[in-house]
Amino acid sequence: MTEAAAAIRLPWQEQQWLHLVELHQQNTLPHAILLAGPQGIGKQRFAEAFTQYLLCESPRQNVACGECRQCGFIQAGSHPDLKWIAPEERGKQIKIDQVRALVESLGHTAQQSGYKVVVLAPAEAMNINAANALLKSLEEPAAKTLLVLISDAQSQLLPTIRSRCQVVGFPLPSMPIVKDWLATLAPASTSLELLYEEAAGQPMTALELLSDDGLERRQQLMTDFSMLLSGRLSALALAEKWQQYDLRDILYWLANKFSGLLARPYVAEEGEVAAGVAELFKHMPLISARNLFALLDQVTNLRVSLERGANPNKLLALESLLLECCEKNHS
Ligand SMILES: [Zn+2]
Repeated sequence: MTEAAAAIRLPWQEQQWLHLVELHQQNTLPHAILLAGPQGIGKQRFAEAFTQYLLCESPRQNVACGECRQCGFIQAGSHPDLKWIAPEERGKQIKIDQVRALVESLGHTAQQSGYKVVVLAPAEAMNINAANALLKSLEEPAAKTLLVLISDAQSQLLPTIRSRCQVVGFPLPSMPIVKDWLATLAPASTSLELLYEEAAGQPMTALELLSDDGLERRQQLMTDFSMLLSGRLSALALAEKWQQYDLRDILYWLANKFSGLLARPYVAEEGEVAAGVAELFKHMPLISARNLFALLDQVTNLRVSLERGANPNKLLALESLLLECCEKNHS
């Protein structure tokens, strides 16, 4: 459990919050809900806040009190009736044994006489066996149990699982809401424009960038990539340099940049290009949409294979991708 267990919901989640609170108050909360939407928008944070509300002894104005015994257990990460299930390693699958343990625990009576809650994330990390084991508990739900699935990619879930959950959708929040929120958290010197774009409009991603010098790291990636495109650095030299970074992070950044460039006005003058891709535009002013799509495809394929647990040679994968970037930029 993270410090975000302080039961704070995010400003763009008001509607979803009120919807579930209302269902709970009318005693019509379903046994399984699926929080679905793009990554980086705080679905996990929502689940933390909502499960705490559900288990709290004396919620105030529809939020957990943060002071009762149950809230205390949750803040200490030791509530006996709240379980979080995630892959044992990032990018790996949720195993059938983990789901079996979950199904069994849902069958027992709650130790604190309230709800029993299991949060499973990311739901798409369940393999078919794990998903089938979960279906069993969804077909025969015990009273006062809630299963919360979280997914960035609900199309990858078994339709039989999706159809047994009430889907709560979380769209990407609007730019003004995100910028206002970031303004309260970022140092005054931060360019909110740049931060917003580097995070692809995802507020939690922006928060991560703020907390670990991510914005500076992204700027370094841009400087390096510019050197490649202007011929001052070879693909191999850059691949070697970028070995120090997380491959997922690099691919995410490239995908974000290429998408940003695709979204520019068809005949763009430099001043019309968004802050986050202005630098890239200087080095790729003439690249065709077709070539950009091809690069984006290559990045996406690599990302998908990583998510599925592939373990490619980082240096070779980067070198081949970077070579392709140079080639597509000049063809
Ligand atoms: Zn409480």
